[in-house]
Amino acid sequence: MDKLLKRTHYCGVLRKENIGEKVTVNGWVQKNRRLGNLIFADIRDRSGIVQVVFGNGTPADVVEKANSLRGEYCVGVTGTVCERESKNEELETGFIEIVAEELSIYSESDTPPIYIKDDDNVSGDLRLKYRYLDLRKPSMQKTLQFRSRMYNVIRNFYFENGFTEIETPVLAKPTPEGARDYLVPSRVNPGKFYALPQSPQQFKQLLMIGGTDRYVQIAKCYRDEDLRADRQPEFTQIDLEMSFVDQDDIIAVQEAFLKRLFKEMKGIDIETPLPRLSWDEAMNHFGSDKPDLRFGFELVDIAEAVKDCSFEVFTKAIAEGEKVMGINFNGCSEKFSRKDIDKMVESVKTFGAKGLVWIRKEANEIKSSVNKFFSQEELAALCDKFGAKAGDLILICSGPKTVVWSALGFLRRDLASKLGMLDPNEYKLLWVVDFPMFEWSEEEQRYTAMHHPFTSPKKEHIKYLKTGELDKIYADAYDIVINGYEAGGGSIRIHDSELQQTIFEVLRLSEDEIRTRFGFFIDAFKYGAPPHGGLAFGLDRLCMLLLGTDDIRQVIAFPKNQNAQCVMSEAPTIVLQQQLDELSIAINLAEK
Ligand code: ASP
Repeated sequence: MDKLLKRTHYCGVLRKENIGEKVTVNGWVQKNRRLGNLIFADIRDRSGIVQVVFGNGTPADVVEKANSLRGEYCVGVTGTVCERESKNEELETGFIEIVAEELSIYSESDTPPIYIKDDDNVSGDLRLKYRYLDLRKPSMQKTLQFRSRMYNVIRNFYFENGFTEIETPVLAKPTPEGARDYLVPSRVNPGKFYALPQSPQQFKQLLMIGGTDRYVQIAKCYRDEDLRADRQPEFTQIDLEMSFVDQDDIIAVQEAFLKRLFKEMKGIDIETPLPRLSWDEAMNHFGSDKPDLRFGFELVDIAEAVKDCSFEVFTKAIAEGEKVMGINFNGCSEKFSRKDIDKMVESVKTFGAKGLVWIRKEANEIKSSVNKFFSQEELAALCDKFGAKAGDLILICSGPKTVVWSALGFLRRDLASKLGMLDPNEYKLLWVVDFPMFEWSEEEQRYTAMHHPFTSPKKEHIKYLKTGELDKIYADAYDIVINGYEAGGGSIRIHDSELQQTIFEVLRLSEDEIRTRFGFFIDAFKYGAPPHGGLAFGLDRLCMLLLGTDDIRQVIAFPKNQNAQCVMSEAPTIVLQQQLDELSIAINLAEK
């Protein structure tokens, strides 16, 4: 191998001020070309790109060697920084070039399968297959550095605020966070499995019982669930827990953290205290428990206005205790065609909605999909309910509340996106508080915990546990929402073993299950558990939001694809029979 030329500068930092200096850079050949007697090569490292010229005084053997350079050769170059003849305004180093005196070729490269340029449009899977090449892109390196700086801000903030960073086990017992577990078989305990933590929830609560008082961890979590653009099977949380606090104390610390994070990472001043919406308000006004407040388009309940109308779809819904709600997409009448609306109808069907009613208010007339059932006067009265003016488009949906909320919540965001209203550089943060404690699961035919079963019901609602009025029970749970994403969530915890036991029972866990799954946990609460609560931020999501992207894979060095596979290493893989034998495991694919 050619000798190592020790770096004096990163490529991207050289400027006018360096003219006349002898420098050494190390990196990869971005591109090279010959022009008369001169060879030009752009050398790239994690900081950026600099132009090197071979000729103009470069020793002949070095020029000769430069002739063999190709894209992605890994090289070292020593030379003198000179002013460029033709400047490149677009490049930060575009004023200068290095006139080479020495060249080392550390490694040659085959023709790379992907372009190593920020603006390539290669398919996601190919980028992931050659992730190590993809990572050479300056934008990817900037992202990794950004994320690393975030770790620093996080650790500094929490350390300064009296939090102790503690690692909790990865080989653990299942923690219910609503997803499936990744299981790890134990060789020395045949037939038994660890679960990778869906979160360090129980450990952090046990740390509070253990007297830690304030805990933080940048924790890897694992959840086996269907993937979306903002989800990965393994992801990172900023996980924390505090003792002797109430919800306001926890929120105050987290707001101070977010303020610092936005300031240090983006130079943005976040105004605190952040607004808070109750879960009921969020759902009724925005159709979502993670509302995007960068735009309006609020939901309006029109049940009262249409309860006696002649349109049966509405009157029937109301009679059955369902909802009739709509949104005034102001100024949008001309912006969406009949065809667009037909597509919207199709998309809301995926949420269980049967259809959509549309009303267009024009200067002299009101058009709608229900003209047969409503007179112009009735339509005008409806428009008034929405505060509609000429040029507005109203969309209305009826049905069970969860259907109406999710359909309209979806339309709100979808239309805002189509209208270009989602500015990634604008940040709207809020807390959603007062979540219901339970939600009914059709699939499981039982109530499940909306946050997790360790969340404390509101004190004044505990009485409904006895009467079985579970829908009336709200929890001391809160989510931090940023631009329509749940960036974090937490709760005040139950610290009374009896109440914890009751909650497990309400969730229809048998006595046996409670003992085997949570016995150790319930026992711990018999020995002086402090009141406590906490929260976890999704670190990847925060990073994604701060960088203004909506693809979580951009901010993770080696992410999984939509099928939870690492296309580069091809994990997961089959394993050797011997390994299975050691684990007493037999594979039975036939049954599936
Ligand atoms: N363990 C919870 C979660 O992962 C966060 C918390 O309640 O602190 O969502």
